[in-house]
Amino acid sequence: MDELLSITEALELVLGRVQRLEVEDVVLDEAAGRVLAEPAAAAVDLPSFPASAMDGFAIRAADVPATLPIVARVAAGRPVARELAAGEAMGISTGGVVPDGADSVVPIEDVEERDGALVVPGNVVEGANVRPRAGDLRAGDPVVGAGVRLGPVHLGALAAAGVTTVRVSRFPRVVLAVTGTELRSAGETLERGEIYDANGVILATQIRSTGATVERLPPVKDDADSTRAAIERGLEADVLITSGGVSVGVHDLVRTTEAELGVEEVFWRVAVRPGKPVAFGVRGGTLIFGLPGNPVSSLVGFELFVRPALLAMQGLEDPRPAFKPGRLGRPVRLVERDSLLRARTRVDDGAVMLDPLTGQESHMIARAAMADALVLVPGGEGELAAGTAVSYLSL
Ligand code: AMP
Ligand code: MG
Repeated sequence: MDELLSITEALELVLGRVQRLEVEDVVLDEAAGRVLAEPAAAAVDLPSFPASAMDGFAIRAADVPATLPIVARVAAGRPVARELAAGEAMGISTGGVVPDGADSVVPIEDVEERDGALVVPGNVVEGANVRPRAGDLRAGDPVVGAGVRLGPVHLGALAAAGVTTVRVSRFPRVVLAVTGTELRSAGETLERGEIYDANGVILATQIRSTGATVERLPPVKDDADSTRAAIERGLEADVLITSGGVSVGVHDLVRTTEAELGVEEVFWRVAVRPGKPVAFGVRGGTLIFGLPGNPVSSLVGFELFVRPALLAMQGLEDPRPAFKPGRLGRPVRLVERDSLLRARTRVDDGAVMLDPLTGQESHMIARAAMADALVLVPGGEGELAAGTAVSYLSL
């Protein structure tokens, strides 16, 4: 038992074998979800001119309180050619260019217009309601750094900064093969002893959530030819993920077949519950993950080892599982291996409390569907009290 790798050791072995995927230049409209390979620099100052933050009047702060002639009106996108002279006011819209000579904008709510003149009754702080040129960002400065996955806000910032294309990693291509002669696909009739394939849809969904594309093979029978054909297909991809067939049964053919096909096994079995018989290997540029067949085991194995690999291939800044701090909502009996318990989160007095569900066995996928978190509980003896600080992954 003791010689089993810990979760962290196994994860580092995986990350040590990851090769970065090639990068390509992509226009912004097609860059959503891609990971930036290098920082993207602003093409223009943001804002690129001193802009009004309010609908109001451009003035010089030193001139007020006073009644000032309104000499022009500035709409957004339509700057006025002339400077503002001392003692003058110009109407201005939000986003309009603050004319040279003006240093402040007084909002429409704070003034009165009387016979074409502007009555400013109070003092104005110099610079009020003016967004200075480059106040957000200077041209040439990075808008978004390398290793960031581009979401709506990043894309918006890049667009505003005049960036047209970004250098990003391509997405990984994954082949997914669920194994088990007993597996039937949705809509088929079950004969005695058969079950519906759950892992196919679970894993495909997990894979896609990393940005990767997935080719799902039909369920693979537990015979040498079927297993070999599926694995050969998968070895052409960036990543091959199998489920089932990695335990010690006579029908568990995945690892032996992979060995015959030249896969170097990096590890098999990790000190984790569920999911101990997880296997990881490489051949050429392909990473090969053998996840156990029980649905919860396969789901957990994906989160601990496969997701980090798929993210690291894309160059994500921190590809490791995103554990967050929380507290146990009730006591938990410890087992010898580190465990990931299915739990529900609730917030109590500002802290995330995790209530482990009843029914933690690795085949209990229906119960797992009630969970929104996987709580990491260290291996050991005895019990962890309610309130103990733990870490968890969101599902
Ligand atoms: P295995 O790892 O192949 O020994 O499978 C362990 C258990 O998980 C067995 O009860 C299998 O029937 C079950 N199992 C394997 N693959 C799947 C799957 N794709 N969906 C649901 N259950 C599965
Ligand atoms: Mg099997």
